Amino acid sequence: MRKQMGSTGLDSFVVTDMKNVRYLTGFTGSSGALMIDSGTATLITDFRYAEQVEEETEGFDIRISKEAPLLEGARLKNGFKGRLGFEAKSMSYLDFSKLKGVLPEAQFIPCESLVQDLRKVKDPYEIGKIREAARIGDAVFDEILVEIRPGITESELAAEIDHRFRAKGSSGSAFETIVASGPRSSMPHARAGERRLTNGDMITFDMGAVFDGYCSDMTRTVVLGEADESQRSVYQLVLDAQQRALDMVKPGVKSCDLDRAAREMIEDKGYGENFGHRLGHGVGLDVHEEPVISGKVDAPVSVNMVFTVEPGVYLPKRWGVRIEDTVVVREDGSERLTLSAKELMEL
Ligand code: ZN
Ligand code: ZN
Repeated sequence: MRKQMGSTGLDSFVVTDMKNVRYLTGFTGSSGALMIDSGTATLITDFRYAEQVEEETEGFDIRISKEAPLLEGARLKNGFKGRLGFEAKSMSYLDFSKLKGVLPEAQFIPCESLVQDLRKVKDPYEIGKIREAARIGDAVFDEILVEIRPGITESELAAEIDHRFRAKGSSGSAFETIVASGPRSSMPHARAGERRLTNGDMITFDMGAVFDGYCSDMTRTVVLGEADESQRSVYQLVLDAQQRALDMVKPGVKSCDLDRAAREMIEDKGYGENFGHRLGHGVGLDVHEEPVISGKVDAPVSVNMVFTVEPGVYLPKRWGVRIEDTVVVREDGSERLTLSAKELMEL
């Protein structure tokens, strides 16, 4: 982290994104701030976490604050005149104003992704946690398949998934579980609702478990009853597009080229307009993090990055298909962490 700070010319850096605090210190509480400078690293939290913070961290100067941790951290630097980096995405305008009030002479440097850049390459410990989250996701999806029947609602299925996540050792759902059926499956991020499943529905499940703080992310689309010709062919197209991108994943491949590989195939069949989102995103402590896998990013991926590959085709008012896996980049290619079957399932 200090190396990162050096390259940005920071004298001091305050971390307020709690996932970043966790990444750097191991502290999993919901309230805190981390002040880093060349000689010290001070972790400030409040009374509720006094015991926990001692248990979870090592080598940090710990302070238990009676006021907002960020302000306590600022007061420790009273009179500071140097370059103070802060996280532009996680700090509210209100907090920023207060911070400025305490340190009127500091030079504030907004930083977008200093810690995120460190987080995008995972170490074996992290990959192990994501693999376990993915394994829980696969096990739950397997169990859920037998629950899919005419008459059951999307919400009931989503609740089953969430419950089973917990029962299998996930600390919760990485995001609001998506179960989108029939015409609702054409909305990429439909919220599970009261619609009852009927024969001929395409049903999209987008689900992620969390293990020791690390997320997984997987989407599968199935058909209730028999698929018709168009459902079958679009499903195959999305699957082929996903496989094409997956086959290309290896160190050095540009993010935009992965996106292009999948998108090209979908465009060639005339569905370019129906694939309106990026190909994928990094997965780790956050379910959406760096690296972004899209046509706009020409940075190459590298060994031990973990991200999703999730093309989709959405036909408004009819149905949609998305297939998503979480993968890790390996020296010679990639390893899929979400392992649920992908051939078209007609249930
Ligand atoms: Zn997803
Ligand atoms: Zn995703």
